[in-house]
Amino acid sequence: EPVTVEVGLGDRAYDILIGPGLLSRAGAEISRRLPGTRAAVITDANVAAAHLEALKDGLEKNDIQPAVITLPPGEKTKSFAHLEEVVDGVLAARLERGDIVIAFGGGVIGDLAGFAAGIVRRGMNFVQIPTSLLAQVDSSVGGKTGINSARGKNLVGVFHQPKLVLADTEVLDTLPIREFRAGYAELAKYGLIDRPAFFAWLEENWTQVFAGGPERAQAIAEACRAKADVVARDEFETGDRALLNLGHTFGHALEAATQYDGTRLVHGEGVAIGMALAHRFSSRLNLASPDDAARVEAHLRAVGLPWRMADIPGDLPDAEALLSFIAQDKKVSRGALTFILTRGIGQAFIAKDVPASEVLSFLKEMH
Ligand code: NAD
Ligand code: ZN
Repeated sequence: EPVTVEVGLGDRAYDILIGPGLLSRAGAEISRRLPGTRAAVITDANVAAAHLEALKDGLEKNDIQPAVITLPPGEKTKSFAHLEEVVDGVLAARLERGDIVIAFGGGVIGDLAGFAAGIVRRGMNFVQIPTSLLAQVDSSVGGKTGINSARGKNLVGVFHQPKLVLADTEVLDTLPIREFRAGYAELAKYGLIDRPAFFAWLEENWTQVFAGGPERAQAIAEACRAKADVVARDEFETGDRALLNLGHTFGHALEAATQYDGTRLVHGEGVAIGMALAHRFSSRLNLASPDDAARVEAHLRAVGLPWRMADIPGDLPDAEALLSFIAQDKKVSRGALTFILTRGIGQAFIAKDVPASEVLSFLKEMH
């Protein structure tokens, strides 16, 4: 039986179902909540090759014959051109407002399909069937959708919550190991933010999470509970939701510094290095013990994730250039920055006044 986690958003509350074999039950779970609706499935070529037949079978048992739109895999798919393709496909299938857009893929497909669902006919029903670990523990929950602009990542989008999330933990068996590890960084993030017992549990049980035993579903469920909690408290990120950015300030700078070249660094790897740096930086500022920073580094290393800048292949720009990626504007770089820092494992907090000069000397030391 799957685990159910509820996202408590009042009359927009929805369930996240987590467990093996959920693709074959997709039609039943969808029909129960959204009876009599038609659907379009948005997916990418990798996911379609491995799992589309299983999903279609699961839907057809409940008489849902979806229109299918298959896009190329990769971050570049989160574009205006592909948004138009999805919008046009949904309209061509003559779907109405109450019909369903199903995102079947990783975070790229979830963000793009969710955005399309949010704007076609001013907001259609939306169901997430995340297939990457990152999407199952993070992007499929919480309602942030969108695409990239030439001026930066995730700059165009809407908040549009799904009606249901189905996280089939077996589909992760076909995920490339590097992508699995990258998603694992986001999973461990919840322990580091405010669930120290979960982090300690992961240190003991991570091999089973990778191997796909019941521990995998357990870990994903705990991550979804953590995300659902934050989202229910702060849906539109006016406060606490920013804690989810732990590791992301350094991480995004490293992604930008490597030109978003996924052969060098994928998002979750940037987050892994970013989390290690956030802990090390907190210990340098005498906020946290160096032992905690060492514990985070050791765990990331144990699972095979990069944890320091030297682990990124190729040359990195110097510390000043990295700081400018963080600050994005020279005025800020001379002043103060907002960072997620920590007092120790499971004790992250939002620091709004970190001097840029401290960040710079830390980056010089770590480079
Ligand atoms: P992704 O969607 O590109 O998937 C990673 C790769 O794995 C792709 O090549 C994909 O085809 C493949 N794949 C996915 N599932 C598979 C499976 N079961 N078997 C085989 N291959 C599979 O990337 P991602 O890491 O899932 O998501 C990253 C995106 O998520 C970024 O664009 C990021 O901005 C976004 N994101 C959004 C939120 C949010 O709250 N909306 C949160 C975090 C990240
Ligand atoms: Zn992330």
